[in-house]
Amino acid sequence: MIRKLLRKVFTRRTVKTPPTGEPARIPVDQHGIRREQVSPAAIKVCTTLQERGYQAYVVGGAIRDLLIGREPKDYDVATSATPEEVRALFRRSARIIGRRFKIVHVMSGPETIEVSTFRANQSSETDSHGRVLADNIYGTQAEDAVRRDFTVNALYYDPTTETIVDYRHGVADLRQKTLRMIGDPRIRYREDPVRMLRAVRLAAKLGLVIDPAARAPIRDMAVLLENVPTARLFDEMLKLLMSGNAVRCIGQLREEGLHHGLLPLLDVILDQPVGERFIWLALENTDERVRTDKPVSPGFLFAALLWPEVTRKWKEHQAAGVAPYPALFEAMDDILDTQATRLAITRRIAGDIKDLWALQPRFDKRTGKMPYRLIEHPRFRAGWDFLCLRAEAGGISQEIPDWWDRFAHAGHGERDELLNATPPGDATARRKRRRRKPRTETGAAEGAPETPPIAS
Ligand code: ATP
Ligand code: MG
Repeated sequence: MIRKLLRKVFTRRTVKTPPTGEPARIPVDQHGIRREQVSPAAIKVCTTLQERGYQAYVVGGAIRDLLIGREPKDYDVATSATPEEVRALFRRSARIIGRRFKIVHVMSGPETIEVSTFRANQSSETDSHGRVLADNIYGTQAEDAVRRDFTVNALYYDPTTETIVDYRHGVADLRQKTLRMIGDPRIRYREDPVRMLRAVRLAAKLGLVIDPAARAPIRDMAVLLENVPTARLFDEMLKLLMSGNAVRCIGQLREEGLHHGLLPLLDVILDQPVGERFIWLALENTDERVRTDKPVSPGFLFAALLWPEVTRKWKEHQAAGVAPYPALFEAMDDILDTQATRLAITRRIAGDIKDLWALQPRFDKRTGKMPYRLIEHPRFRAGWDFLCLRAEAGGISQEIPDWWDRFAHAGHGERDELLNATPPGDATARRKRRRRKPRTETGAAEGAPETPPIAS
């Protein structure tokens, strides 16, 4: 079935997009981006290169974002200088990244400017599905413009003259709120299927409408994403989920048919109605944090997205006779292994996810010395945030995170009082009464541990 689909999609070979003619040169009084709005580090990189006779422009997302009045996340510079020439100019603050296609990271204080040499879209190296494997042929600025994905991303800003060089009517498209692909969308998706995810993410983030020509083939070609290396997919998913518009992005992915059978994580998110409330809350919560400039950790987000699955598996293992803690750890491994087949969650993030999950049952234990140990745990705060999310979703009583908040901030006397109060949700109290399990976010009974929690 998948083979058939792939064959259908891969009938056309990659062709070169022809370079265009003269670009529009838009002066500052028409576009409004003043030098002062641009990162001084990016300007410094451009002017240093220009002083040596190279062409250098701020390019891509930063200019697009400034045009619509947003603060750019990061800055990219495109230049006629080769990576070696760039490095020679910036010496110790520059590092060449990548082996086949080299870019240079120029560090300036806390900022890293990504400097890439103009490239042509002429790679002959593709895999059997037409995906471009090496995109490493240097070219002219005009060629560099047409190898970019969307017209709004092919804008070059010269900080010296404050002019925007626009090869593909990107400024006009942005004004018309259109996300238009450069070249034939089917060919561009085949070259790099991640462009489908980028289309959805950028449209959601910028409030643009994907041009019908770029939108139409997505449903058909979604299957190509199976062919993309997992690490790349993970990076893109991370960008999507941490964009501050995760709810909108996921909604649009679903509309475009991009969520199915491709990423187990998304299947989990979208295909399990019982888990949805918790997951949507987690996404809303993340969007809110991004928008209010609060830190967001990928570990927390993925832990939340996968939590309903983990609790379901946890329950299954317990029903099969495994003790609560080993059952939880088995469930954690099951879920992370499933994800690993498609989504390369980095080891560090997987560690963070596990930490958060493993802390959860420890919040049930509100007697003896355990609470003192838990509040000293380096991940207590993140674990507590996670607990709050569970309470907000209705999986546990709000009384539990409230109790921990009070306990963490109380003086010694008050802590003793809190411990003696044996609150109603407490594990010990539960043992004394009839064993009745609370409902969880997934609608299943939560596997609250009856053995002492594992010490960190
Ligand atoms: P953001 O930084 O907001 O995620 P961006 O468009 O800047 O969005 P980057 O990944 O920083 O995304 O890429 C910088 C530029 O490189 C883009 O604006 C685009 O011109 C080009 N680019 C990035 N990915 C691709 C791609 N898959 N195909 C073609 N061009 C791309
Ligand atoms: Mg960018």
